Amino acid sequence: MDNDNSVFAQNTQNTLFYWCPGCETLHAVYHKEFPNPMTGATWTWNNDFVNPTVEPSILCRQGTEYVCHHFIRSGFIEYCTDTYHKLAGQKVRMLSRPLDRY
Ligand SMILES: [Zn+2]
Repeated sequence: MDNDNSVFAQNTQNTLFYWCPGCETLHAVYHKEFPNPMTGATWTWNNDFVNPTVEPSILCRQGTEYVCHHFIRSGFIEYCTDTYHKLAGQKVRMLSRPLDRY
């Protein structure tokens, strides 16, 4: 979908990518019909590209050194307090056009 207000970008496998301002990189979410090919993990999504809600929470880990744990709710990223970066415990509006920031 080409929508300037979209906070998600999709690849040909329908993986949803979004910008994480805490990690300053893209994260990916796999929704129902298109599970993670490596792990089979899948999330529910309200099919909204501007104000998405995704369940359950998303946990991005790099070894034991780094954790980014958050919810996506109504177009906001809500960072859990077990997140390692500066936005832990905060709620921030998702940014549109995520690929432009990469
Ligand atoms: Zn992150």
